[in-house]
Order: sequence, then structure tokens, then C-alpha cells
Amino acid sequence: MPLAIARSVASLRAQVAAWRAAGDSVALVPTMGALHRGHIALVEAARQHCRRVVVSIFVNPLQFAPGTDFHRYPRSFESDCQQVAAAGGDAVFAPPVEEMYPKGFATEVRIAGLTENLCGPFRPGHFDGVATVVAKLFIQCGCDLAAFGEKDYQQLQVVRRMAADLDLPLTILGVPTVREPDGLALSSRNAYLSPAERTIAPRLYAIIQESAAALMAGATAAETEAKARKALKDAGFGTVEYVELVDAESLARLDRLRGQARLAVAAWLGRTRLIDNIPLPPAP
Ligand code: AMP
Repeated sequence: MPLAIARSVASLRAQVAAWRAAGDSVALVPTMGALHRGHIALVEAARQHCRRVVVSIFVNPLQFAPGTDFHRYPRSFESDCQQVAAAGGDAVFAPPVEEMYPKGFATEVRIAGLTENLCGPFRPGHFDGVATVVAKLFIQCGCDLAAFGEKDYQQLQVVRRMAADLDLPLTILGVPTVREPDGLALSSRNAYLSPAERTIAPRLYAIIQESAAALMAGATAAETEAKARKALKDAGFGTVEYVELVDAESLARLDRLRGQARLAVAAWLGRTRLIDNIPLPPAP
């Protein structure tokens, strides 16, 4: 089956209705394009659960603060479509901005609590923009399941909360982070890194792994975070926004390892903001 490309909500709905009439289940993989193996892992995971997979490609202006990288965000539509088709995806939904936010658009979805630490304070309005577009995508597609990466762990928890709170009738599937052989989490923004920065970038993952080992051995979050901040600086990172140990579900800050947790980090490398996180105790 050739890949279907929908540019309007009406054509997406017609496509999904045709699949539904044939008895097919439908999954959605929301992305901003510039697809890589991390996105493709989401398509493959979604395919394990649903007969049809839609990948949305939409660089959502609502989740970018003014003066950030909305305009220079990488865009590679042709290659994206080829990758979706090769991974067994059935359709790409790529609406223009006016289709998502027609004149007069005035609704916002905001999730309290979960958005107040980690990336929240550093990216005001970001999760409101994410939640708003994701709610729209879920309603537009009427999917049975949507797949999100653990790479953006706070986003995953925000989306789970929203789906539960709004009684949205779909399953949220979290997919483990896909990494380069040297440990760097795949990200469309890695394309911004200079060759010199690219050699430093994998230290982010190495340092949170070292921190995780210290926390497992009984170190406090405060001492571990201080050491990690110093190690990041020494490795050549610029501003370290946070290194935070949080409860894996509520994202509440923990003072030492307790139950299921996540160690999450955000730091700048030159002009690029990198984030990463790992489960604690480590995944088997
Ligand atoms: P983005 O296009 O960056 O908005 O990401 C779209 C989806 O892909 C989100 O659910 C991300 O969490 C997920 N994703 C991005 N990078 C990775 C990765 N390295 N491994 C797994 N999922 C990822």
C-alpha cells in the first residue's frame, strides 16, 4: 500500500474512517519531522499494537518560545515519508499551520503540577503548547493508541495525565530511548552540533549513568547533582539547567532514591539544548 499523505483534518478523518470500516485499529505517532531511528522505533512499537499507523509531522509553533529555534528547526519531508513507508507506516498527516490554528484559535490545554519542575521553568508555555497540539491530534485522528518516546520523559507523563484527565479513549505507549552507539540519545536537534560538540555530547549520558550508580549506592540527590553539574562543566557543557532525581510517575523531586525514579538532565552545548534521562533502578 502506498503511503497516504493527508494535509487536512478532513482527509485524515476520511482515511481513518475507511480503515475503521474495514475493522482496522489505528495508532498515531506525533512528531515534528526530521525523523531518525528514535521516531522509527515509535512506528515499529505502534505497529505491534495496531493494524494502521499514522505519523503526524507538524512543527508546532505553540511549543516554541519567541526567539528559539522554530524557524531553523530541521525539516526533511521527503526523507521523512520514505522512512515512514519503509517502517510500515500507513499515512503521514502533515497539516499546514493554518489548518491546525485557524484564525481566531483561542483554546489552550494546560496540565498543572507535572509541568512545574524539570523543563517547565526553563521553557515557559512549552508544555501548554505540546498538550494543546497533542489533544488536537488525538481528537483529529481518533486513534486507539499513541506512541511517545521516553527521551522526552516529562512530555510522556504530561500526555498520560492529559489523556487520563480528559477521559480520552486511547492508550499511551511509552517507548525506551534510542541511542547512538556512543550513548547519545538520538534527537533531531543533534544536527545543530558542530563536530567538536558532537564528541562532547555523549558525556551527558555517561555522566547521568555515573550519577545513577552513585544514587544506587546510597548517595543523596543533592551531592549527586552537584557532582554531575561539575562533571558536565568540566566536559565542556555551558549552562546546566537541571540535574534532577524525580519520582517516575508524579515527577516530584526526591532527596534520595526511592521506588521507581528517573534521573533527568538538561544542559546547553554551544547553541544546542540537550536533554536526557534514565530509569532508576536501571531497566533490566
Ligand atoms: P520530536 O519530533 O522530537 O517532537 O519527537 C517525536 C516523538 O519521538 C516524541 O514522542 C519523542 O519523545 C520521540 N523521540 C525523539 N527522540 C527519541 C529517541 N532518541 N528515542 C525514542 N523516542 C524518541
